[in-house]
Amino acid sequence: MKKIILTGDRPTGPLHLGHYVGSLQNRVKLQSEYNQYVLIADAQALTDYYENPEHVRKNVEQVALDYLAVGIDPKQSTIFIQSQVPELFELTFYFMNLVTVARLERNPTLKDEIRQKNMKDSIPAGFFTYPVSQAADILAFKADLVPVGEDQQPMIEQTNEIARRFHHLYKTEIFHDVKAMIGTTGRLTGIDGKAKMSKSLGNAIYLGDTPNELKKKVNAMYTDPNHLKVEDPGTVEGHVPFTFLDVFDPNKTEVEALKEHYRRGGLGDGVLKKRILEILEAEIAPMRQRREQYAKDMGYVKEILRSGTEAARNVAAQTLSDVKKAMGIVY
Ligand code: ATP
Ligand code: MG
Repeated sequence: MKKIILTGDRPTGPLHLGHYVGSLQNRVKLQSEYNQYVLIADAQALTDYYENPEHVRKNVEQVALDYLAVGIDPKQSTIFIQSQVPELFELTFYFMNLVTVARLERNPTLKDEIRQKNMKDSIPAGFFTYPVSQAADILAFKADLVPVGEDQQPMIEQTNEIARRFHHLYKTEIFHDVKAMIGTTGRLTGIDGKAKMSKSLGNAIYLGDTPNELKKKVNAMYTDPNHLKVEDPGTVEGHVPFTFLDVFDPNKTEVEALKEHYRRGGLGDGVLKKRILEILEAEIAPMRQRREQYAKDMGYVKEILRSGTEAARNVAAQTLSDVKKAMGIVY
């Protein structure tokens, strides 16, 4: 029996390089070895986009296109839409009792997001409890592994706590111990040098960016503001082209030599931007091409989502039935 992967993304915008190195690469690599479910978390996206459901709706198909573009194979992976699997929300309701408000308040990712989104005293209850819904997504598939970026680690811990509590209370062992799998880069910085490339921070390079958009973004990358003349010695730390070379340039020896040169002085930012542009263009070009190919046949993409959702729903319904039996909610 193959082990199980559950992972996904919020359709709040198209996917970017952070998603790629944080999670998508692993999904492509592991899809033949695992039984993989990939969820488009539209209901979770609504917990902070509830005023603009159209935005979320539009992005569901965009995210599906991104999946296909990076090489998630619908024959090997099950791609599905969260809101169309109502069993997930039933599970969420039962799991909600197994988590305290205080525990949710301590969740570092949630805390960060509440601060970032400036929610303060107006946190929607739905947003506040989304970690429980995320746990339900993972447990509904009895997942063993969740390929995610670093910011999701606390969600996985929370999931395991809920599963353990469920097992303890209802004297059963239906869920598997869940592990997070962080990609080659758990937290890719944005082109502005800020801590995390993110759809909502406007600092992302999208997997579907045109060569022109990519070029503009590379040119806008944050460098060393004190490195005014080529001869000036420069600082490598926080220098975005270097951060990206560290992640994407296969020739680490050359990158180290370039860093030395930059620190010494005599190396211009233009040279580094040109190098990273070439590397990123080579990485993105085949994705862009595949994306365009699939975009010509949206009927096929919709069919992938429809059949994936149907398959996912069957699995979630089975788990829900196990859960209800364990709790004795059977009439
Ligand atoms: P939003 O700003 O709407 O929250 P996001 O860019 O953070 O969007 P999510 O859909 O929340 O994207 O995250 C999907 C997955 O991608 C998660 O596993 C997350 O950890 C990972 N991820 C997102 N951004 C990065 C990043 N910059 N580096 C590494 N992984 C990332
Ligand atoms: Mg996020």
